[in-house]
Amino acid sequence: MLTTGRAGHHDGKATATSSAAPATLRVDWLNCAGRGLCHELLPELVSLDAWGYPVVAGPVTADLLGPARLAVSACPHSALRLLTGR
Ligand code: SF4
Repeated sequence: MLTTGRAGHHDGKATATSSAAPATLRVDWLNCAGRGLCHELLPELVSLDAWGYPVVAGPVTADLLGPARLAVSACPHSALRLLTGR
């Protein structure tokens, strides 16, 4: 008799790296003071609401990763984080 312990398992290949995982910007609202330095550094992705608080338009595309990292490091209140895919 032949037993197959993993019948029905898909190809079973684990991914070693997350090559194209999207990154997103997350605002920590408790620390954000508004004023919009992140908007000035990354206008392609961050706009400001009526009170001057950032509104992030969507995921960080590969071409905006550099400016996004700069905006994160420049935030005077450490209220901006770049979350990368898992
Ligand atoms: S730079 Fe930082 S503190 Fe200023 S608006 Fe952006 S997230 Fe808020």
